[in-house]
Amino acid sequence: MSEHALQGVSAAPGVVAGRAVVLGTFTDDTVIGVERRSSELERARDALSASIAALEDMARRLRETGRDPEAEIIETGVLMAKDPGLVERVESLVMESGRSAPSAIVAAGEEVASVLASLDDPTLAERAADVRSVARRAAAHASGASVGTGGVLIASDLGPADVADLAAGALGAALAQGGVTAHAAIVARSLGIPMVVGLGSGVFDVKSGELVVLDADRGVLVRSPEASRLVAADADRSRRRDAREDALRAREEPAKTTDGHRVTVLVNVATAAEGLEGFRQGGEGIGLLRTELPFLDAPEWPSVQRQVEHLAGIFASLDGKPATVRLFDFGADKTPPFLRGTKQRGIDLLLGAPEVLRAQLDAIVEAGGDADIRVLVPMVVNAEQLRSIRAVVDAVAGDRRRPRLGAMIETPEAAHRAPEIAEAADFFSIGTNDLTQLVLGLDRERSRTAPVLDPRVLALIDATVRAAKDAGILVDVCGEAASHPDAMPVLVGLGVDELSVAAARVGEVRQAVRGLDFGDSRRRAAGLLGQA
Ligand code: PEP
Ligand code: MG
Repeated sequence: MSEHALQGVSAAPGVVAGRAVVLGTFTDDTVIGVERRSSELERARDALSASIAALEDMARRLRETGRDPEAEIIETGVLMAKDPGLVERVESLVMESGRSAPSAIVAAGEEVASVLASLDDPTLAERAADVRSVARRAAAHASGASVGTGGVLIASDLGPADVADLAAGALGAALAQGGVTAHAAIVARSLGIPMVVGLGSGVFDVKSGELVVLDADRGVLVRSPEASRLVAADADRSRRRDAREDALRAREEPAKTTDGHRVTVLVNVATAAEGLEGFRQGGEGIGLLRTELPFLDAPEWPSVQRQVEHLAGIFASLDGKPATVRLFDFGADKTPPFLRGTKQRGIDLLLGAPEVLRAQLDAIVEAGGDADIRVLVPMVVNAEQLRSIRAVVDAVAGDRRRPRLGAMIETPEAAHRAPEIAEAADFFSIGTNDLTQLVLGLDRERSRTAPVLDPRVLALIDATVRAAKDAGILVDVCGEAASHPDAMPVLVGLGVDELSVAAARVGEVRQAVRGLDFGDSRRRAAGLLGQA
């Protein structure tokens, strides 16, 4: 068969060659014939045991590297997944109802999780998310994906939690649907996993085990690749490894342009592992801690204790560097089960749930201790929201160290009101992901482009930077544009002080800043603005 390329859109760069692992749908309606049910049950049991074993292995490795709190979370989840009730329910769904192994596991996991979520004991209720996560892994395993062993993952779509759970062990991911700024793509970029989205249903003609090349730089998935393409994929891998090593060697050198303009490069994280990687590459602090990502499967708002545990694990590696913790930005493609149906997002949701807001601020202040913590408010639209949050920060902090308070400028309204919001804020962080999509009227979860350099978007970024400078506060960009090779120089040229980027990209962005001429960047930014 000759080479055949499916065209999609690049969502996270990289070129890899490997065997396809096609992830079937977990909720199919197929009824399995009675004669095949015993073997289907065998498949389900094997998948559950394999996933539990993999998680136990992960917990052991975490303990070996001194990450006991994370290991404990995984071990408790494993215990829940071994619950005889779960196994019995899978048995009855397969044997009596003829459900397929993946669909029985997901349905049984959901039932057990719902029971746990409804219990009075908040600690047990929080474990519901762990059961869902183990069930999802086991279902993936049953549908042919050998999670954690490599391979090019092929699926219809993935949520951000699925990418963290499943694709972390994969070489890359090729999706029939998906969008370049969807959170699944952000997690993939952050973990350095090449991803192509929007390949269409043709991607399901690929068979599990088939050799493919995923060229995520060009947004294509190649079937029956020619030898030269396999060689090129290998060469790309070596080139990336070399570039990463170069960046690591230069990690101590400041990110300064050739004409001496200093830019601070920070790291975007949701987990402790990302923080460690970003700092290893020379990250000067955390510029965006997305607190909502670990709780996307949570059955209810996480307790203060659970949040403190999670944050403390990330802060442990700060070593004097600052950390910017964003308040929960649930909503849209980051809607956990307990918020399904809600229309609100970001700070609107939190201001409508004052207990939750207080609990989160309490957890941040408590976990932060003496560290330099900045609290970032998502989806701000006016200064009043920031004043309300500041009143709660003051009340909650008491005599503990008070965090600085910043506004995310990621809506057109916020950018228009930047001067007045700057009066109420200690710093700004521009969220180019939402801003671009909102200004241009695109659908973030489906959109195939993120044209940050569109003059309409640039004009709002420029207005925001000017408002920050006038008010004498720092301005950072934490959206994906901060690490985009074309957009980053323009952002620097507009006067942005800090760039906060995915962990896997910290070193390369620092290198890229060292190669810039600030004067040129300013001229280029002015030229683009002139077109507005
Ligand atoms: C953004 O919108 O640019 C941003 C950084 O936030 P998120 O991607 O989490 O919405
Ligand atoms: Mg955003």
